[in-house]
Amino acid sequence: MSIDANAQGESVSASDIPSHSERPDMPAPPAPAGGDGISRRDYEELRAYVNQLERYNIQLENRLSAYTVVSEDVTAAIAESAPELEDTLRNMIGRLAQIMQAEKAVFMLLDEAEQALIAQKPAHGLTEREIKVFRAGSSEGISGEVFVTGSPVAVPSARDDARWESDVVVLLRVRDSLTVPLIVTRKDDIPKKIGVLHVLNKLRPGGFNDEDTHLLTNLARQLTALIQNTRIFQNLFEEKTELETTLQHMAIGVLVLDHDRRILLTNPIAERIMGVKFTEASGKLLEDAVKGEKLRDLMLKTFEDGTPGSGEIVIHSPEETIFQVQTVGGGLGTDVGVVTTFTDITRIKLLERMKTEFVSTVSHELRTPLTSIKGFTSTLLADEAGDFDAEARREFYGIIDEECDRLTRLISDLLTISRIEAGKALELKMESMQMKPLCIRVVERYRNATDTHVLEEHVPDDLPALIADKDKLDQVITNLIGNAIKYSPKGGTITLSGSKTDDQVTISITDQGMGIPPEHLDKIFDKFHRVENSDARQQEGAGIGLYLVKHLVKAHGGDVWVESTPGEGSTFFFTIPIPKTMAGAGAKS
Ligand code: ADP
Repeated sequence: MSIDANAQGESVSASDIPSHSERPDMPAPPAPAGGDGISRRDYEELRAYVNQLERYNIQLENRLSAYTVVSEDVTAAIAESAPELEDTLRNMIGRLAQIMQAEKAVFMLLDEAEQALIAQKPAHGLTEREIKVFRAGSSEGISGEVFVTGSPVAVPSARDDARWESDVVVLLRVRDSLTVPLIVTRKDDIPKKIGVLHVLNKLRPGGFNDEDTHLLTNLARQLTALIQNTRIFQNLFEEKTELETTLQHMAIGVLVLDHDRRILLTNPIAERIMGVKFTEASGKLLEDAVKGEKLRDLMLKTFEDGTPGSGEIVIHSPEETIFQVQTVGGGLGTDVGVVTTFTDITRIKLLERMKTEFVSTVSHELRTPLTSIKGFTSTLLADEAGDFDAEARREFYGIIDEECDRLTRLISDLLTISRIEAGKALELKMESMQMKPLCIRVVERYRNATDTHVLEEHVPDDLPALIADKDKLDQVITNLIGNAIKYSPKGGTITLSGSKTDDQVTISITDQGMGIPPEHLDKIFDKFHRVENSDARQQEGAGIGLYLVKHLVKAHGGDVWVESTPGEGSTFFFTIPIPKTMAGAGAKS
């Protein structure tokens, strides 16, 4: 029998070198020569046989070592991270093709939603586009058959086998193929088919044989393990990244200690509070990483007795920030660490403080007119003898009347605020109105009330008519002029101006008063916000006027803002949109 070891050697399995009876394709030993010595011919034959065996052995060793490398890679990769696993997968597919002496190797995984087997990257000998288009129904063609039956199939000529779709044969240039299933088997679990593995185009003549099937089935097992691990790692990696991203962007600070009191995890807010970066703090003992004594004690206590703790800490970096700290977990003797969360409660605290101040300011604001009303009423009642003449009485009644108005305004402001707070829309009585007469009216009202200020009104005559709630806009202008007067205690000119663009009317109120420090400009329209300097504090107020102005203007679809220079004065602006039908139409005088 003449055998080409080169052609046949590749079908050796990775397990044992088979005996000749098992492997008819192995060179047969020459028949023993009759007689004593061996003849020259016998010797030549024996020599050729030994040579063939040697070559055969080298090939076997090569394949075995490649196989071992694959196995070792799989074992090592299982303990590795996702990107390394992917590299290992790529290497494995390459080596697998090499071991199988196949031109191409590609695996397909089941897409449960589509019920299709879809070719996956990495593949060997296929272009990206070929991988992309190679897919089959989960029970279609050669891939589907192997997937459904779970048994390997070798096809010696793909062109003549109907199970290979002709366009795939053309696309992937498939000559012959060997396909095995990818089956996950876990202890105490039903084996689960996840896909198939194809090796295509045997590089040596003879096609894929039973030995190849046996070998590829073994390799497929390792490939499956690797795919599963890659999937698990990918999922874990994605979850971890998601968790890390969430943690990084969380509005609360998080610090996790392991059961040895060492820093396991932090996010930027927690790092800011502790004043250290995670890279520096990671793995450090709580006592070494956390400087604040109060914070440390809180965590240590939870660590020791396992009871949740809470407290407040103040950080100056550079602005004062108040954090509510909560600790959970712990308990000595357990292997549970401690999770600490930090919630910024600066605003809540500020609101609490403002509310307390508000209650006292409002009480004061209510008491002032009441005291005045009570005083004048008592005086008038006590004047049985008629000591006060008609003019004096009229003046007293006038003051009582004004103070009643002031009370009514304050109470109605408070009611409006509670409506806004309850999320109820402001009720607007929308009607066609002119801005100019309204501005004149409010300015006139104030001219009578101050003799230290000059009030000027420069609202153009030709402003278009607006659709608005006249009373509410009166309230807005009244508030703004009232403030202009109140916060210009030394007097000065207060100017009311107006202008228009295509779609809105802008009204501005300028004073020459104390002005507003820049850091208060964006908070001035918040409820209860008052500038905390001695000049402003001397003026009475509840800090709700501008809050109402903002809501009233916004309810009309307009905007409000302020420009101010401390010590020089402020200008408040507000806009009201011009209704589409009125745009371009000037006021009729
Ligand atoms: P208040 O009742 O305190 O006047 P506002 O809401 O009307 O409440 O105003 C909020 C704060 O804005 C005031 O306390 C004051 O500090 C500041 N402010 C308002 N208007 C002016 C102004 N024209 N000039 C300077 N400061 C002003």
